Amino acid sequence: MSTTFSSLRLHVSGIVQGVGFRPFVHRLAQRHGLSGWIRNTSADVEIAAEGNAEALHSFIADLRAHAPPIARIDRITAEAASLSGFDGFAIADSDTTGALRQLVAPDVGICAACERELFDPANRRYLYPFITCTDCGPRYSVIDAMPYDRERTSMRAFTQCEQCAREYHDPADRRYHSETNSCAACGPTLRCLDARGTAMTSGDPIATAVKLIQAGQVVAIRGIGGFHLAVDATNESAVSRLRGRKRRDGKPLAVMVRTVEDARLLASVSEDEARWLAAPERPIVILREHETTRVAPSVSVGLGTIGVILAYSPLHLLLLEAARRPLVMTSGNPSGERLASTLSEAMSSLCDIADAYLTHDREIVARVDDSVLRVGSAAPIIMRRGRGFAPVPVALPIATPLPLIAVGPHLKNTLTLAIDDTAFMSPHIGDLETIETEESWHVVHQSMKRLFDVTPRVAVHDLHPAYLSTRIAARLPVERILSVQHHHAHVAAVAAENGITAPVIGVAFDGTGYGEDGHIWGAEILVADLATFRRAAHLRYLPLAGGDRAARSPWRSVFGYEQLAGGTRLLSDESVESIPRDAIELVRRQLASALYTPLASSMGRLFDAAAAILGVCLESRFEGEAAMRLESLAGTRPGRVRGFATEAEADGRGSLVMDPLPLLVALADAARHGEDRAQLAADFHSSIADGTARLAATIAEREAIRRVVLSGGVFQNARLVTELAGRLERSSLEVLLPRRLPANDGAISYGQAVVAAARLDAGV
Ligand code: ZN
Ligand code: ZN
Ligand code: FE
Repeated sequence: MSTTFSSLRLHVSGIVQGVGFRPFVHRLAQRHGLSGWIRNTSADVEIAAEGNAEALHSFIADLRAHAPPIARIDRITAEAASLSGFDGFAIADSDTTGALRQLVAPDVGICAACERELFDPANRRYLYPFITCTDCGPRYSVIDAMPYDRERTSMRAFTQCEQCAREYHDPADRRYHSETNSCAACGPTLRCLDARGTAMTSGDPIATAVKLIQAGQVVAIRGIGGFHLAVDATNESAVSRLRGRKRRDGKPLAVMVRTVEDARLLASVSEDEARWLAAPERPIVILREHETTRVAPSVSVGLGTIGVILAYSPLHLLLLEAARRPLVMTSGNPSGERLASTLSEAMSSLCDIADAYLTHDREIVARVDDSVLRVGSAAPIIMRRGRGFAPVPVALPIATPLPLIAVGPHLKNTLTLAIDDTAFMSPHIGDLETIETEESWHVVHQSMKRLFDVTPRVAVHDLHPAYLSTRIAARLPVERILSVQHHHAHVAAVAAENGITAPVIGVAFDGTGYGEDGHIWGAEILVADLATFRRAAHLRYLPLAGGDRAARSPWRSVFGYEQLAGGTRLLSDESVESIPRDAIELVRRQLASALYTPLASSMGRLFDAAAAILGVCLESRFEGEAAMRLESLAGTRPGRVRGFATEAEADGRGSLVMDPLPLLVALADAARHGEDRAQLAADFHSSIADGTARLAATIAEREAIRRVVLSGGVFQNARLVTELAGRLERSSLEVLLPRRLPANDGAISYGQAVVAAARLDAGV
């Protein structure tokens, strides 16, 4: 072992404050026999360390390898310093002189140590529903402003008792500088209220709530980022009552269980899925449901999948421990409205749904929904990015010369603030269609500007002139406004998330995006870099009777394709008969006159049409239902390629056109002849994957580009991603997929920021 004695000055940046980093480094330095100090600065953490060279080396390696669970280390820089001969290792006072920009940690699921203490009768926090430590608990949802100190969180309402304060000031304690530290003597308290808001005084609020749930009632429960609506997942009448009251007749409901083993009783869980279930982010993971499970039939809706989430707060653990059964835990909002976060919001928006309220007095500063993902073959497919992920920043591969705000898309809105090479994407806000969501948007905007200390000078919005988001952008006090085409934003988001600035072939498949030609785009192959794009191919335009209405009625897309086919019947007689006659008449009139009939090159609508032709789904009760049913029906059986996009022709503007009509006609024929529908659903997927891969390869060859981006909501379809990516890779192309951002419109605001930054940087 070397005995050279040296001295280093380290700077560690990332999410390193409010996550137990200093006590961790303190312990680590002692273990390696180093002397020196650590302190927080406004921008990062600074460490002075002295010891023998070898020990310093392994100290730095351990910094990365054993960092606390919530910490995220982006960068470690080390410089040689002159020897000071420190006496031991100390935690020094913070240096708050520099510029203020720290990363805000996301909310983190309860850690194993806290869970042990929660159920340890000898521990002073035994059964305390707000137990936390520096490794776990709420963060983003309780923080008003940075730097992260208790007086700038909603925990300021609770003064620590003597025992808590002692832990807080002891560098050797797990709760050293834990800003959410509290106990039953000094922390938040629970109450159970009846439907009219009267406190139910009898005994323990958790026991009371559990008794109500066991009796089949709906209880609204205030958690980390908002309210949930909870019912007994094994009680069919309770679950269907919740569905009826929430007016959510089709969408699957998430189920909360205590452990991964409990999840295995409901669904098959791979190793990857188990890891995600138990990850600090604790997302809802979409799993393959067992054919027979304990949960009530109306929890899921015949998709063969179930969304499962592990208890992530001590309150949830106590509830499940007492209830001893899985609970439906769905967002506390009527369909289409925003998540309730205060008791008064809950009592007004949930009054027709909840029979009782289990609430607490720790204010929720930022509303955050549960995140939702499924595990794909290559990467997780993030469907909603909320608690646990937001507001972890995402890098911008081209730094923005001016601070900017990207206002996000029309549906599944998020917003992004960007400064230098960092983008802060908000959690899921919702569909920008109501005054309420617009209000939420402004609240999130204000709080993020404050949290991240960004004053935007540029606003970025979607190309669509009539979107609410476009009007919001126009009213912001900025120097410049830029617009970005929806699918360019999709492609740029995925390229940028993968750190790529060079041109890519961008396959953007989704439902709707406003195109440069004024038509609805949605199945585009772009040749794009971060600043510019060219449309190299697109799906043949479909007349879409009723426009947006068509997204909810897959049969309308089929009628459009029938018109393209010169009147050839694609829908079965049986299906046609099940559709109200007047609706059919209206659609026929719209198609004949081309009134209310925009042209769309939408892959979402093509999936709708295939689902309707196979009789899988004529009306969608929720967005994407038809495509989800089609994927579920196809299962894992191999598909046969029936031709798609192979005879792509130029459209006169230099863009190739993919014509799906032969494929749809073949499917309709086969269905009419009684061929197995599941096989036909598989064939449809394989044909789309095959045709797209060939076309992308042709364009890649022509453009001498080797990278292909897959982006857009259609790529939440795991089967399609696997098939298409496999084919592209066999053509020696490199496939880039979304990693920590959603494939769907949830990532559009980040994509808008990426494009704007690249354009500002290039001066275009
Ligand atoms: Zn903990
Ligand atoms: Zn206390
Ligand atoms: Fe989209």
